[in-house]
Amino acid sequence: MERKTVSTCPFCGVGCGIVLHTRDDRITWVDDDPGNPSSRGMLCVKGRFGIPFVQHPDRLTTPLVRRDGELQPASWDDALDIVAERLLEYRGAFGSFASAKATNEDAFVQQKFVRLVMGTNNIDHCTRLCHSPSVEAMLVQLGSGATSNSYIDYEEASCLVVVGCDPDSNHPVIASRMRKAVDDYGTKLVVVNPKRIDLAERADVFLQPAPGTDVALFNGMARAILDDGLEDREFIAARTEGFEAWRAVVIERTVEEYAQACGVDPHALRLAARLYARPPARRGLPADERPGSCLAWGMGITQHTHGTDNAHALINLALLAGQLGRPGCGISPLRGQNNVQGCGDAGCIPDSLPGYQPYRDDVAARFEEAWNAGIPREPGIKATDMVERIATGEIRAMYIVGENPLLSEPNLAHAGDLFRRLEFLVVQDLFLHETAELADVVLPACSFAEKDGTFTNSERRVQRVRQAVPRVGQSRPDWEIICDLARRMAPRVGVDLGQFAYRSPAEIFAEMARLTPQLRGISYEQLDREGGIQWPCPSADHPGTRFLYAESFPRGRGRFVPVRQATPAAELPDADYPLILNTGRVLYHWHGGTLTRRVQALMDQVSEVPVTIHPGDAERLGIADGDEVVVRSRRGRLTGRAVVTDAVRTGSVFVPFVKLRESAANFLTNNAYDEPSRIPEYKVCAVRVEKKRPWDAALTGGWPTASRDK
Ligand code: SF4
Repeated sequence: MERKTVSTCPFCGVGCGIVLHTRDDRITWVDDDPGNPSSRGMLCVKGRFGIPFVQHPDRLTTPLVRRDGELQPASWDDALDIVAERLLEYRGAFGSFASAKATNEDAFVQQKFVRLVMGTNNIDHCTRLCHSPSVEAMLVQLGSGATSNSYIDYEEASCLVVVGCDPDSNHPVIASRMRKAVDDYGTKLVVVNPKRIDLAERADVFLQPAPGTDVALFNGMARAILDDGLEDREFIAARTEGFEAWRAVVIERTVEEYAQACGVDPHALRLAARLYARPPARRGLPADERPGSCLAWGMGITQHTHGTDNAHALINLALLAGQLGRPGCGISPLRGQNNVQGCGDAGCIPDSLPGYQPYRDDVAARFEEAWNAGIPREPGIKATDMVERIATGEIRAMYIVGENPLLSEPNLAHAGDLFRRLEFLVVQDLFLHETAELADVVLPACSFAEKDGTFTNSERRVQRVRQAVPRVGQSRPDWEIICDLARRMAPRVGVDLGQFAYRSPAEIFAEMARLTPQLRGISYEQLDREGGIQWPCPSADHPGTRFLYAESFPRGRGRFVPVRQATPAAELPDADYPLILNTGRVLYHWHGGTLTRRVQALMDQVSEVPVTIHPGDAERLGIADGDEVVVRSRRGRLTGRAVVTDAVRTGSVFVPFVKLRESAANFLTNNAYDEPSRIPEYKVCAVRVEKKRPWDAALTGGWPTASRDK
């Protein structure tokens, strides 16, 4: 029988609407959803052709339990009984990673299990590795950690400033909407990136700063705005605080000094600043509307040891120019995974409850009343620290849902050593990936196409996910597995069984909405009737919110935070490792590649790790385009294929972090962290590149062995 199911793309945070076509319970093809307001009938290659991972023969179909050193098939009852017994031993030394690929409902149940049953706030997810500095900075300066605007604002802006991200590879449908603005409406475009990305070809100004010098660059733009008197004085006076103290820091250096510090042309820096602060009106802008500028950024800003400072410097610019709270302007940290926004909203972060609500007595009391049990009120341990604290014994057991830290953590050899020291590890996922291979118990989860739920995209739009095909093997939705586990443990820790007796994802969402002010007005009935809704949506008759901060900021006034350029990175090039490694993504793969490596159409496009290197460096090293090369850092090595192009700066190489042919960039990266957010410095470390020699043939990435000393 043929069916069509309207759902949401499971790859990136754009959250495109998809239509899954099925015949006899097999997915036959995937189409766009023309009615989806986030994607407007567009899909990228991953959304259209990347879905075959759902019914791939590698899918886990039964629970696996380690016996005699081997993972062996087990019944659900046996597996969950073992997990329940063992986890009860580790209350107080336990941590959990949630999945930004799973639904809001899965996430909400997982954080409830961790807080209520395991008695800890040690829960986190991959936001720690992508936008935790953005969230940290936005909470301090504005009082909310979300994107302030919508994708439609990119089309209504008079200037787009795209910083430290490559939308063509990472958020392709957003890239299309940005191109439309430039091509159809004459919107000005400023691109800031150490790599010449495709979007730079259309830019009015392209700035290619030296890696790690972003604070100098944005302070330089701020200085240029001040020099030209283009600051929005009315906005600053009425809506902000801390301006004078911040200004005193910015004017310590001239535009020329800032430009020199980051290696860009001072005239181009001034022009970028003018375009952002006072863009010329785009074509078709109503005469009475002030031209707006949107600031969009990615992990080129955040994944540094001073990532939070970088985000502060950007938000200072938005406050200075008054580019917030109107149509056609705003700030957008472009979210990575499909549901990274929702996973944080649902409470899978260690420092706040669902809806980013603090552990204040009155807030905690509301949760305790609803859940009829006490919850911990001390902030938990952040994801990267959970891994590091395995070494100290503070974390001895972990429950990892839908994440593969042995591809996503920095310095993988170090991370592998730590994970092997865990006393008990449970992994719940679709495939037996690198982390699952080390687990004591592996639980098979359903993919997005086998369950109902919701995802929340980068523009805060909550959208439905709908079951299109039967569950693969004995796999189950994450929320259902966690509820089954929780019921085995709850009575032994004083928690009501009824707290995990949900009959449907709609019931879970209703509880989450009751406890989370920004979601209070959203229900499945409304989502099914009207399509996706952007939070905040405080009541059932509220239409949702296109942009934030029209009248005020959640913290009252927007706060300027002075920041100075620090040492560009924890590890800089030297004689042994003379090049700077920058990591990121490629269009045809998703993150570490756990899903997309199982899609032949995507593997046909990119099957080896590309190592992008400048022609000058390549010539000096005797490397030609297409040569096999070895990249080494102090922590590891990989083999890849040279792509020689002047798109990267001299002295820099770019390697995506997908694992292909046993090579992965995170063997090279540095486990040095930004202090406030604890994000690793994925964007800068020192490496050397050599043409691969015949005796290097046996080199792999130095992968951790797939077993643990028990
Ligand atoms: S842009 Fe993102 S959400 Fe849209 S189809 Fe591509 S991967 Fe999916």
